[in-house]
Amino acid sequence: GYHPVQIGDSLNRRYQVVSKLGWGFFSTVWLCMDLSGRRVAVKVLKSGAGFAQAGQDEQALLRYSSSPVSRHPSSQRIVQLLDEFKLVGVNGVLCLVLELLGPSLRTWQLCLGNPGLMQPWVKQILTQVLQGLDYLHTRCKIIHTDIKPENILLHPKEHLKEISVKIADLGSSCWVYKHFSEEIQTRQYRSLEVLLGSEYGPPADIWSVACMHIGQIVELLGRIPPEVLHSGKHSAEYFDRRNLRRVDPVRPWRLYDVLVEKYNFLLEEASEFSNFLLHMLDYHTERRATAAQCLQHPWL
Ligand code: ADP
Ligand code: MG
Repeated sequence: GYHPVQIGDSLNRRYQVVSKLGWGFFSTVWLCMDLSGRRVAVKVLKSGAGFAQAGQDEQALLRYSSSPVSRHPSSQRIVQLLDEFKLVGVNGVLCLVLELLGPSLRTWQLCLGNPGLMQPWVKQILTQVLQGLDYLHTRCKIIHTDIKPENILLHPKEHLKEISVKIADLGSSCWVYKHFSEEIQTRQYRSLEVLLGSEYGPPADIWSVACMHIGQIVELLGRIPPEVLHSGKHSAEYFDRRNLRRVDPVRPWRLYDVLVEKYNFLLEEASEFSNFLLHMLDYHTERRATAAQCLQHPWL
């Protein structure tokens, strides 16, 4: 269902295609120059049957999070919708014109390799991601549902000394009060409640910010209380009465110890950082820290 686009095409008589920025399951994304010479990203959505509805949902969510009604300083932490139009195609090809952003955190991670980003930068990035989520959750009542490094894009305009990032790809997002799918999140970042098939909400995004696998979850965070463990419709696939199926017995290795023993954290840093993360990884969604609470944590 990808719509064919060529370099040099003029989309909607307004956006000249300069190069390809990227692509995903739902779209191709193009660097374009508009009539005033401004550079923008045009996301050309797939139009095949089954994709049209997803495109319209993304459009509605982006319109809302970019609208002046919900205007707030932290709205700048979410990619902004600038314009939209349709191309002639099977079902009419929906195109979303977005502000131009830079490469994703994932690209950065791959370029940097080990040991990765310096901690002051990690803190800046996390602060900005949490500000964006606080805005989405509290003001817009939107759950992003696909928080991962691929969807955090660098904002190129700023000085090199400071980092600025934005949350992108609302392509699988949903409303707090209207979900589109039971199967949300990319596997490595999938929260306990979604793995188990229980109710989910904004806390699922917070988990993704911190995140890992179910076996590792138990190793790191300890036994899952029975009321949580049996709350989901997939619970029986993962657990017999108390233990994980198909997984070697777990060897507990607490987050604090992992930070000290594996990552050579100083004791005090390890204690503050693990405290920060453990609030985001609370098994009980109603107790899990909100984005606003995370922003108050002394570690940041
Ligand atoms: P999908 O919903 O198909 O996954 P995304 O919105 O994630 O599409 O976009 C696919 C890719 O296009 C991204 O991974 C990124 O590389 C690039 N991209 C998307 N939006 C922008 C943007 N505003 N500025 C620059 N590149 C972008
Ligand atoms: Mg994507």
